[in-house]
Amino acid sequence: MERGDLIKVAEEIKKAKLIVALTGAGISTESGIPDFRSKDGIWSKFDMNEYGYIDNIISQPEKVWKMLKILIEDIAKAEPNNGHKAIAEMEKFGYLHAVITQNVDGLHQKAGSKNVIEIHGNFREARCLRCGRIYDIGYALKQEIPKCECGGLLKPNAIFFGEPIPKDVFIKSFSMVEKCDVMLVVGTSAMVYPAAQFPIIAKQNGAKIIEINNEPSMISNIADYSLYGKAGEILPSLVKHLFF
Ligand code: NAD
Repeated sequence: MERGDLIKVAEEIKKAKLIVALTGAGISTESGIPDFRSKDGIWSKFDMNEYGYIDNIISQPEKVWKMLKILIEDIAKAEPNNGHKAIAEMEKFGYLHAVITQNVDGLHQKAGSKNVIEIHGNFREARCLRCGRIYDIGYALKQEIPKCECGGLLKPNAIFFGEPIPKDVFIKSFSMVEKCDVMLVVGTSAMVYPAAQFPIIAKQNGAKIIEINNEPSMISNIADYSLYGKAGEILPSLVKHLFF
């Protein structure tokens, strides 16, 4: 990452009217939560085809909940890192207007971000697959195979592969994506749809795309600026340049 790039990116942000961040699991790895697709990511230990799909939890709830409980414990212990804090700071000073996150860890809110759209839901709650009732996740964690009072199976209130994104969440995200002048794309491999499409749509509508990732991703070819390195280091440096 060149200092000159940070200066140019800060200038783009300063002149933009609507700035949106799209974040992925990579922003939380420095908080100790593994991402999915990196070398030591979750899918290197648990096969995505056995754990990631809605059919998996329905057919083998005990096995999938065992893995989920490990992830939920990691998340409960985690604290926001300097990347989350920098994003919250940008919003506080009017340099960011919404965070669309694919993460389920709640660390943006914990860092102080206010306008957070959790496009893949969250791990704070569990939802009944039969009646839709929502519980605090603690209720589910007490049971081996978490069940609702109605007898239905509980799952974290997060989106599994094969499940649709709730319509209201999608519409809210899409309206920000369409209108933004700058999109910061942080710590996502941009391989999961529909979020992976957001930078492409924003670009088609004239937004500048700023990628922050520790390696090139699926959207590097459309990015106007690519800042490679740790999000927890690049974002605080960017904030410093915004205040120059
Ligand atoms: P992903 O695992 O596919 O990609 C993560 C990206 O972040 C990779 O490109 C990786 O190189 C990069 N990265 C890792 N550490 C980084 C760092 N310190 N700084 C900058 N970049 C870094 O994750 P994704 O694109 O978010 O999509 C997959 C799904 O993962 C999402 O649906 C999300 O719900 C789920 N997920 C969320 C969490 C969480 O909530 N923290 C954790 C694991 C998976």
